Amino acid sequence: MEHRIERFVKGDSQLIRLKPESDLLETLNNLVERVGIEVGVISGIGSVGPVNIGYYDFNKKEYRKNHFKGIYELVSLMGNISVKDNKPFCHCHIVIGDKDGKVYGGHLLPGTIVKVGEFHIDVLKGTPPERIFDVTTGLHLWNLKL
Ligand code: ZN
Repeated sequence: MEHRIERFVKGDSQLIRLKPESDLLETLNNLVERVGIEVGVISGIGSVGPVNIGYYDFNKKEYRKNHFKGIYELVSLMGNISVKDNKPFCHCHIVIGDKDGKVYGGHLLPGTIVKVGEFHIDVLKGTPPERIFDVTTGLHLWNLKL
């Protein structure tokens, strides 16, 4: 497989405070669809719990779900927005920290609940990359031009 790259121009920057008790991934997906953002990057911090984090098992080609009860610092969320199944799709990874400062991280899954959420979206201008199923990895990957 070749490396692939595509250029985008920076558009708007948006700051977003999410409502407590909302599902983090579902809310981000609904928000970008409602506002019409099809390509961009997301970052965020705050507090979350309970938390569902995925670990992709390349042998089984499926996500293993790690569930965390209680409330954690959302030390970092980073992700991107592209298009999957004809609608905007957020792919995010998170790092959470417990009361002792131990951190856990991985792929953000539904069922992660916001306590406090401060997010930043940088909208990008250009043709949105589409996620296409990749047989080798079992994942939906970007169809970037080159
Ligand atoms: Zn991921």
